[in-house]
Amino acid sequence: MAQDSLITVEHLSRRYGEQVAVNDLSFSVARGEVLGFLGPNGAGKSTTMQMLTGNLAPGTGRITINGIDLLEQPREAKRHLGYLPEQPPLYRDLTVDEYLRLCARLHHIPRSRLGAAVDDAKGRCGLGEVGRRLIGHLSKGYQQRVGIAQAIIHNPAVVILDEPTVGLDPIQIREIRHLVRELGGEHSVILSTHILPEVQATCDRVQIIQRGQLVLSDSIAGIRQRMRGGSLLLGLQHPPGEAALLAIPGVQGVETLEPQRLRIRYDSEASTAQGPAEALAQAAVEQGWGLFELSPEQRSLEEIFVDLTTRDDAPQPGEAA
Ligand code: ADP
Repeated sequence: MAQDSLITVEHLSRRYGEQVAVNDLSFSVARGEVLGFLGPNGAGKSTTMQMLTGNLAPGTGRITINGIDLLEQPREAKRHLGYLPEQPPLYRDLTVDEYLRLCARLHHIPRSRLGAAVDDAKGRCGLGEVGRRLIGHLSKGYQQRVGIAQAIIHNPAVVILDEPTVGLDPIQIREIRHLVRELGGEHSVILSTHILPEVQATCDRVQIIQRGQLVLSDSIAGIRQRMRGGSLLLGLQHPPGEAALLAIPGVQGVETLEPQRLRIRYDSEASTAQGPAEALAQAAVEQGWGLFELSPEQRSLEEIFVDLTTRDDAPQPGEAA
């Protein structure tokens, strides 16, 4: 594992009776990295999050936070961990200042440093103006900032955020995403979300789990590559039969979209980024197919997600990169 990983997970598994919820999961998050943690409902995200935050005992496996074993030294490890659960633990009838002071004390921050810790967390979360307001009177966006402030008040190495933008309006969402990106500067951040554009906007790396196992772990740059590769749109005035197209080196599949428009699939990992485009153009000209369109098809992260998580074959251990 990388030297500067602030959180490492090795061979983590958990069952509920016969049901395997998390199955031999291994990954790490580097300092300064924001990891997007995705998966369809029932994939094992919550179970994983609960184990990472020390709220659920793993069946097997090892978790270290800033080099400290979470199972062997839970108290010490948790000092380096900040957590924003899906339902933030807010006290609506406290002011922001009162609440954050309470959180700081629960994290054993010495009295002499309480004020500075509260000011710092408020500053980083844009709460400077609302310290004396009752939490219950704040907008949902501001309440979420308070939730993030409590997660970072003790300046933890690792911050885990569960669905931090659910229920916010578009402007609040932008602000929280910006804040998450900033947190990524010095912490390791794990962000669980269902919102795929959020991942592209905030994360450095994406991890998708399905049936308790990793089916994808890739950088955002790698994901962009995947979004580009894989298929071409081909327009032919006189399309030949499928067999003629499949005979072209690199072509793996042909799908007829309209009578004269086809989707050509190719293996983007085994070939160059443009795939069999040149060979298709050449064949079209030589054989008089009347080529009028040839372009790479852009896939969305959503399509990649659906592709990976609706495949019938169970993921094989070691399949993820
Ligand atoms: P996600 O958060 O990705 O929706 P979960 O971690 O909640 O997934 O669940 C993973 C699997 O474990 C699911 O099949 C779910 O039904 C099962 N599961 C989760 N919690 C429990 C529990 N307390 N008892 C029994 N089965 C559970």
